[in-house]
Amino acid sequence: MGFSTDAIHAGQEPDPSTGAIIVPIYQTSTFVQEELGKNKGYEYARTSNPTRAALEHNLAVLEAGRFGFAFASGMAAINAVLSLLKAGDHVVAGRNVYGGTFRLFERVLRNFGLTFTYVDTTRLEAVSEAMEDSTRLLFLETPTNPIMEITDLTAASALARQRNVLVVVDNTFMSPCLQRPLELGADMVVHSTTKYLNGHSDGVGGAVVLNDAPLAERLKFIQNAAGAVLGPMDSWLVLRGVKTLAVRMRQHTANGMAVAEYLHKHPKVKKVNYPGLPSHPQHALAQKQMKGSGGMLSFDTGSMENARKLLKAVRLCSLAESLGGVETLISHPASMTHASVPPEDRKRLGITDGLVRISVGIEDVEDLIADLDQALAKI
Ligand SMILES: *Cc1c(COP(=O)(O)O)cnc(C)c1O
Repeated sequence: MGFSTDAIHAGQEPDPSTGAIIVPIYQTSTFVQEELGKNKGYEYARTSNPTRAALEHNLAVLEAGRFGFAFASGMAAINAVLSLLKAGDHVVAGRNVYGGTFRLFERVLRNFGLTFTYVDTTRLEAVSEAMEDSTRLLFLETPTNPIMEITDLTAASALARQRNVLVVVDNTFMSPCLQRPLELGADMVVHSTTKYLNGHSDGVGGAVVLNDAPLAERLKFIQNAAGAVLGPMDSWLVLRGVKTLAVRMRQHTANGMAVAEYLHKHPKVKKVNYPGLPSHPQHALAQKQMKGSGGMLSFDTGSMENARKLLKAVRLCSLAESLGGVETLISHPASMTHASVPPEDRKRLGITDGLVRISVGIEDVEDLIADLDQALAKI
């Protein structure tokens, strides 16, 4: 089946007891058993819940994987994946992973004896050099936030495979509609479903998808043992959101491209970071591994003062963290999402004080450009 057909139908048979076309919200903690040892496949809702199971099946199909697991948040999903490791294990991660991921690794998991090395994963030599005998996992995010650097997933996965290192890709920025890391050789995909998968800025959630059965068994054990599961109501919201994922991503990409082109030509904009622009240093690689460039971009206004003026002047674009919803969000990485990154590191990563990030929504793009145009005029 095609992607949109799967998004709408995979894991979603009509309800056998009523014929309801939509998977019900099974708001229950437990399931009555007929007799000792005899149940209908469900016992206790932390272990499994039919609404969550439908979502897990659906997301597995969309990511071209065999097993899906839904968690209470993207961070809970990432924490579960890292719980597959043990003290003494080493992880190589992108130097520009999501801030919450960096915080989890450095401020929580380091206390449990895991060690981490952060490298520019766009350079395969750097990934290779960072590998140690104890390296068990390579954690990648592509494109990165907010500079939109691209890592070659096929090449990085092949490199890791030679050393028996698990490759985990945070696919939140692209969604399976635009990028499918498992098909490129990765072992696991993680998501913050809070973003594009749910797509409507009304829920927090996370997911992991993978192919390997023994690894899936261990992850299922961790999901149940640690218990950070996604609730039935939130599972239902993501199931509903995903039905329109393909049409939304098509529009996010079209709007993202139009806004990027507009900004690229604007005399007050110094630089635009968007993989769909031919000026992006990895445009060719992006074209090869992604099916579209999506709705995330960033651009340099030249100074903190300029960024402040622009962000104060926008009316339609909302000043807020997060991304991936139908509405356009605009933010200032240096003082918001990346405020905890030391200034020297921000500079090295290209996160200048004048950098502005946009999660381009699916409003009429003329309205978005008109809003940015009047705001840029204030600079
Ligand atoms: C938001 C986000 C996360 C964390 O997800 P939560 O649902 O907020 O816990 C992880 N990775 C990326 C790329 C994100 O954008």
